[in-house]
Amino acid sequence: MAKQIQIGPARWNGEHLVTDIALAGERRIVRVGIRERMVLDLIDGRRCASEITLVLERMGLSVTRSSTRDVINRLITFGFIERPFVASAESLTAMDARAHVAASNLRAVWASTIGTSRPMDRWTKSMIATPGLVIFLAVAVSMCVAAAVSVTAAIAAVQQLQAGWVVLAVIASILWSLGVTLMHEWFHASAFRVLGGRTGRVSITRLGVFPLLNTQLDGFGLLSRPDRLRVIVIGPLVSLSLLAVPLLTFALARHGSELEAIAGAVLLVDVLVLALGLSCLPNTDGIRILESFTLVDQLHSVAFRTLIRRNRLPTALPLLARVAVRSYPILPVATVVGLLLAGVLAVRSH
Ligand SMILES: [Zn+2]
Repeated sequence: MAKQIQIGPARWNGEHLVTDIALAGERRIVRVGIRERMVLDLIDGRRCASEITLVLERMGLSVTRSSTRDVINRLITFGFIERPFVASAESLTAMDARAHVAASNLRAVWASTIGTSRPMDRWTKSMIATPGLVIFLAVAVSMCVAAAVSVTAAIAAVQQLQAGWVVLAVIASILWSLGVTLMHEWFHASAFRVLGGRTGRVSITRLGVFPLLNTQLDGFGLLSRPDRLRVIVIGPLVSLSLLAVPLLTFALARHGSELEAIAGAVLLVDVLVLALGLSCLPNTDGIRILESFTLVDQLHSVAFRTLIRRNRLPTALPLLARVAVRSYPILPVATVVGLLLAGVLAVRSH
């Protein structure tokens, strides 16, 4: 096996168990199926192709020696196996002639660039280490409590605002939200550079009808489960910690002042954006966290395709993945109902 090979965990994408593999420092990421993955797991530098075939047969897979050899040859073509199996001149010629098979059988994803770390990444490194995350989590939880306590008062303050000031409050809320989002996305990308050695791409995604800034992380599939979680949770943790700014401004501003009302508006918008981002609607960090735990790709679409029976759900999948796929359709409904209820309660309670 090549020394610098990176093998991600196997994930369920609704139809196949897929694994992303790559060579560290190279842009190409190759997505392989279960057979390639099992062969890779069995390569230990001692077993030959026939022995690997035997083990796979004993596991109940329908393989032949030549199909195992094909898989091995394809993996060699991409450089994942270094000094592998003795190959005769004829088989090398045959392999070359079938180079196109290798290319079309293994789906490759091209990552934008290999990440070069930035000076600020040093900060991220300590923030995503376990002690850093624990501190962050404590701060985030206290911010949630403080925000929940302040929401009713913030709504009351915003309602006192005169028409002329409303425009200012809207502008302040949008600008603050944008700033928080940029910081949030930057930390996702930075954590990804630190743990994955690759660079993310900023893109626009959709949350329902709203356009949303998003970071595309090519090579995310190569990360282990704990590393995936670190890359995902750092974003919301940064956003939640930044709630301190509108919360403090709101608490310290003179009661009944315009500043208090504007800080209240900023706080309300911030809380709404955070609640949506952590909810179980498609394309949110909430869903990414669930996907990282359960190792299911695109959980929302897999869940719905399974629900309408377009996809099957093999019993061989881990229990966690099956439970997630089966129960996901309930989550967005529960989220929407929960958000509406919270909104109604907040408005009515003051
Ligand atoms: Zn995020």
